[in-house]
Amino acid sequence: MRISEIFYSLQGEGFFAGVPSVFLRLAGCPLRCRWCDTKYAWDQAAGTTYSIAKIVEIVQKWPCKFVVITGGEPMINSDLPKLVQALKANGKHITIETAGIAYMPDMLCDLMSMSPKLSNSTPSDAELTAVHEDSRLDVAVLRELIDNYKYQLKFVVDSQSDLYEIQQTIEEIGNVDSSKVMLMPQAATRDEFLAKSPMVADMCKQTGFAFCQRLQVLLWNNVRGT
Ligand code: SF4
Repeated sequence: MRISEIFYSLQGEGFFAGVPSVFLRLAGCPLRCRWCDTKYAWDQAAGTTYSIAKIVEIVQKWPCKFVVITGGEPMINSDLPKLVQALKANGKHITIETAGIAYMPDMLCDLMSMSPKLSNSTPSDAELTAVHEDSRLDVAVLRELIDNYKYQLKFVVDSQSDLYEIQQTIEEIGNVDSSKVMLMPQAATRDEFLAKSPMVADMCKQTGFAFCQRLQVLLWNNVRGT
């Protein structure tokens, strides 16, 4: 598998924020989001090729039960179920972080952490926009993931006006447990995160959705490998 990076840190986002975790960042993502903070993982060929056995061996270096498989977009990698199976056989708790653009059945993961992309993620470049808009939101896939996995739904909020689109998206998906919905400030730096947090906190109080931390930004200002 092409792996962009493997590192040990704290889970920065979602209901497991603060939990020490090993991160496996798989290479390859078609979406090209405007504010993506892992552009180095877009290219399917980025990083290093490892066998699944080697990945499991590296993960075992750290005294840590929690593994986060992220990207890039891990759900487009056909070897993902085998990797998850091998990690589960070694007693790991697996979170898969995905934009929710592809479905795979029978994955042994413990949490499907979905971050459906809103129109605030659309890139400005016309060529990239076409690809992005074609695939950023697949309601049928999101519905299938929700129906078949333990999940959380994280929405990246750039401005107050995103709330209507978030509520529309949730309604379209249907059958969403609102206690699993989180709103996360769009921010590449600590200053941006702190500046947008009060607005997002108010949206959370208004809707009952949870505020989603970004500890990696708050603690390390989004340095690679954190
Ligand atoms: S889906 Fe995630 S990895 Fe892919 S471009 Fe968007 S933010 Fe970046």
